[in-house]
Amino acid sequence: MFESVPTLLENLVLGRSIERRLNFAKLLPHWLLARIQASEFQQTVCRAGEHSSYYRRRFAAQGIETRRVRLPADLGDFYTTAADLRALPVDDFLCARPQAGFETTGTTARNKRVYFSNEEVHDIGFEGAVGLWNLGLRPEDRVVDAFDYAFWNAGITLLHSLNAIGCFHVIASKLPPEEFYERVREYRFNVLIVDTAWLVTLTEIAERRGVWPVKFILSGSENLAEATRAWIERVWAAKVYQAYGQTESLGATGIECPAQRGYHLNEFNFLFELRQPNAEGWGELVFTTLTRKVMPLIRYRSNDITRLLDDDCGCPLACMRRIDKIAGRADEIISCGMGMISPWIFETWLSGCPGLADDWQVAVTQPGVRDRLLLRLERSAGAPPAGEIEAELTRRLEQRFPYYYKNWRMGMYEIGFEFLERGSLRPAGVRRKLRRLLDERIPTPARQPLSAAVETLGSEFQSQD
Ligand SMILES: [Zn+2]
Repeated sequence: MFESVPTLLENLVLGRSIERRLNFAKLLPHWLLARIQASEFQQTVCRAGEHSSYYRRRFAAQGIETRRVRLPADLGDFYTTAADLRALPVDDFLCARPQAGFETTGTTARNKRVYFSNEEVHDIGFEGAVGLWNLGLRPEDRVVDAFDYAFWNAGITLLHSLNAIGCFHVIASKLPPEEFYERVREYRFNVLIVDTAWLVTLTEIAERRGVWPVKFILSGSENLAEATRAWIERVWAAKVYQAYGQTESLGATGIECPAQRGYHLNEFNFLFELRQPNAEGWGELVFTTLTRKVMPLIRYRSNDITRLLDDDCGCPLACMRRIDKIAGRADEIISCGMGMISPWIFETWLSGCPGLADDWQVAVTQPGVRDRLLLRLERSAGAPPAGEIEAELTRRLEQRFPYYYKNWRMGMYEIGFEFLERGSLRPAGVRRKLRRLLDERIPTPARQPLSAAVETLGSEFQSQD
């Protein structure tokens, strides 16, 4: 019976009203949502096993009978990975004729392709509208969208969200921030929807040249350090919210609410799991698409490490669980002389240090017998001399991470600094997620496997914080 619930709700109760949808979310008990999800999960697994050659092959190889699958746990250690999407033709995943295609931004040369129907893009856009309404967006607002549109889904999804709300909007696309500032200031847009790293440069310009009244800013695509968020909010005198997503989820995995404490998961369109959570609950986010007919993904490993939050945020989306900020990429956890390190550690260490711009990258190298952490840091305009920044960073390491500081003083690893011009790590026009942590040592078989790294991640956080 549960398979007909979403359609009935859609047709009889909710219609296309964002407000009704939001009020309904407030009343929906999580147990009912979970039952609906389970029913849709079963249908998705059966459909994929029947129509996608990839899933048919993989299910057969693992002896999985799709009709017997009720819950994700019934699939054992079956997962779909980014490597599968990269290595195989996209046609292998398709269950129906696609109408829209996007590519993932990535850190490798080969991008993943993900295909959809127009209806799927439209529906995800509508769910996005519910999240935007929850943040206060209304038809009378004026929105500018500065997302990159080339091969990327974020802008198209947003366009459908803005159409659903019916507000005035302009697609600026990802112009150089100076040009953007010049061209949009006359419009007095009161809502800015932008890319995270790009927002930092725009805010520097606005800090120098002046701001206009803004209701809120929504940024997506990469984690925003809390110190940076606080600065941007100060400059614009407006709240900055974050959305979280991947192209594989059509950018709609989760969105913050006014509480700014984690992302509400889009549990109407996805079933989420945490893979191999440790004692503190940190694990890799895994999702199954529940409503996609063209290219369903079953237990797709997002590669993002997070945990579920269980405190009450008090907003209408409470029935959709929240996850914490992404603590790192599962493949960006490195075991080295410093300990088990993830990008989160460096974000915490470097954030708010005078003279540093927002972009940085850390490479683990091994010039001699021990590991050397090479911090590639971009300096902001008018930064103090390198020596002063180094001294400040040393002081912060001792204060924020005494354990790592002690290991460094004991000679377990070396630290090197490389100061770079602003924009060196992310050349203009290149839209790639900046890889924060690199292992540039010669590989040895003694490296700790990923699963062990994920297991110890949370305790590292707890003990070092
Ligand atoms: Zn909330």
